[in-house]
Amino acid sequence: MPSLFKMPIETLKGVGKRKAELFGKLGVDSVGALLRLYPRTYEDWSKPYTIAEAPQNAVCCVRAEIESAQPPARIRGGMMILKLVVCDGYDRMTVTFFNQKYLYDKLRDGGEFLFYGVVKKNTYSYEMSSPTVSETKKEGIHPVYPQTAGLSTKQIEAAMQQAFVLLPEKMNDPIPENILKEYHLCSLNFAIRNIHFPKSLENVERARERLAFEEMLVLQLGMARLKGGSKKAKTSLRIENDYSDEFFSFLPFEPTNAQRRAVKECIADMSAGMHPMNRLIQGDVGSGKTAVAAAVCYTAAKNGFQCAFMAPTEILATQHFNSLTGLLKDTDIKISLLTGSVTAAKKRPVYQALDSGEIDIVIGTHALISENVKFKKLGLVITDEQHRFGVAQRSALISKGENPHIMVMSATPIPRTLALMIFGDLDLSVLDELPPGRQKVDTYLIDSPKRHRAFGFLKKNIESGHQCYIVCPLVEQNETELASAEEYIDKLKNTVLGGCKTALLHGKMKAKEKDTVMSAFAAGEIDILVSTTVIEVGVNVPNATIMMIENAERFGLSQLHQLRGRVGRGSDKSYCILVSDKQSDNTRERLSVMCRTNNGFKIADEDLRLRGPGDFFGSRQHGLPELKVASISSMEILDETQEAARHILESDPELAAKEHRGLHFETQRLFAKAGGEQLQ
Ligand code: ADP
Ligand code: MG
Repeated sequence: MPSLFKMPIETLKGVGKRKAELFGKLGVDSVGALLRLYPRTYEDWSKPYTIAEAPQNAVCCVRAEIESAQPPARIRGGMMILKLVVCDGYDRMTVTFFNQKYLYDKLRDGGEFLFYGVVKKNTYSYEMSSPTVSETKKEGIHPVYPQTAGLSTKQIEAAMQQAFVLLPEKMNDPIPENILKEYHLCSLNFAIRNIHFPKSLENVERARERLAFEEMLVLQLGMARLKGGSKKAKTSLRIENDYSDEFFSFLPFEPTNAQRRAVKECIADMSAGMHPMNRLIQGDVGSGKTAVAAAVCYTAAKNGFQCAFMAPTEILATQHFNSLTGLLKDTDIKISLLTGSVTAAKKRPVYQALDSGEIDIVIGTHALISENVKFKKLGLVITDEQHRFGVAQRSALISKGENPHIMVMSATPIPRTLALMIFGDLDLSVLDELPPGRQKVDTYLIDSPKRHRAFGFLKKNIESGHQCYIVCPLVEQNETELASAEEYIDKLKNTVLGGCKTALLHGKMKAKEKDTVMSAFAAGEIDILVSTTVIEVGVNVPNATIMMIENAERFGLSQLHQLRGRVGRGSDKSYCILVSDKQSDNTRERLSVMCRTNNGFKIADEDLRLRGPGDFFGSRQHGLPELKVASISSMEILDETQEAARHILESDPELAAKEHRGLHFETQRLFAKAGGEQLQ
């Protein structure tokens, strides 16, 4: 299909400049890309139901004849209401439309139509409200596309129909024949035709399975090739002396054995010569990754190398900066902070000092990637909470040195199965031990009626000198059904917590404001920090002992685990209270995992078991390219594609063979979208 990717979307009739822009928002710039825009779901108009047989509480298509149509009438609130009585030969049903006056002209003369909506069954009558109506010839299965303002799914469907005219009879299939056979996959031709205009829902399944397989295969091939590139790198940056024991003597605590081991492993990598270190430090929240990073930074700096330490948020970067400057205050190591909110005037001298080699360690956010940042001798690049960064962002920082040593830190315990695939080339150090004295964070799941009791509990803890977090998912006012952080603070005033010192922290605040609030909280000047998820990563206030999370069902397990990790950081008993009114078994089961265990790796595995890998690949939390169908992917597909990718690369590591040309093309396309990462 490569040639269709060269055909601009405007080639299609009815797609002008304006529409092309809208398609652009959906990531569609060519006819080829349009064909790869898959429906979100389908409307099944293929087997119309009778009124009595329509399923309960589910949308479906009913065929019926219009018996009578009342002229539209205005009701209270200025709404126009249009009522029909329809009959399928056995039963009657009332169909109501609101503010769709124009339908009257179409329906007043009667006739047979299809009504797509939910049939409500009352004791003696049937009703349907605001269905989609269509002529009977619409029967079939219709795609529903992801939309953007100004572009409806109907318009996308129309464009798709035109694109189909351009489809060659025989499409070049990126998946080689032997793999199609081995894994019983349908051809690209079948898949593309049936994902858009399926004959049956079974065909949709076949098509999806094949497209998910393709996507996962392409992802794995791409990842493997990216890694292949980094493995071959050679480095001249060798570390001569180990200063870690000296560093440990600066710490106010004894490092754990796990921390010592991780540091030793890093230093061994960096002293070996030949290849740069390429190591992932996986440690549960609170396992003390920062100290490991600091020890390794110190050693690298003492050996004459510059270090760049990148964190995903200003708060975190500032926190790392403060703790490192504190620990190393009596040494000759120079440390600087570089974040978005550092003014240009203050950045300039930092740029200069980095360029001239005066600064040994620079800690910052994405600001470190800026073109202005140049190093004299960058020897070590550390990324904290690596899942927050894209592949491209990490390599942008790495490219500022000549094959520097790389260390990534992850507090999101990624299920082993996935870690193997994503980090296959990284050496792994696991901090499987928490510092002594930590207690399990007791976790409870409650619903709204129990909230006031929870507040009482918070109050008691605050009175004994502790602090609390309350997390709400969003701050926008229009999301009224959610406990929005701003309103929440107002409401607290009328509860037992009314007298407490509260503060708000959310993502829309300026970095400076956030820092002020965070510092005040860290200094104990605030009792309750009501926040959105900006506090999710890394924030460390050991005196905070309660984490209350509203709308807990909105969060993934790993995210909840991260949030919970904000408490239990000191030696005092800590608690996590999950508030959720969602009663579904699935939600309960998911949230109860949090109550059962504090082990992040167990939680991650459980998350994977409950939700499948789809959610993981569907979210953009991991820095991988965005995937489309793989979000419905299964563990089985994951295993199969892993195996297939291995076979392919064994025989053809460059994907240079003729039969792999399509896969090569698709890997480049996928990774180009991830931010210009170049695959050769
Ligand atoms: P994370 O692994 O989640 O990034 P941090 O590095 O922020 O964890 O460490 C969490 C807290 O534990 C910090 O207050 C840190 O000072 C403390 N800490 C780290 N290592 C030890 C240790 N070996 N003994 C006691 N406290 C420690
Ligand atoms: Mg951390």
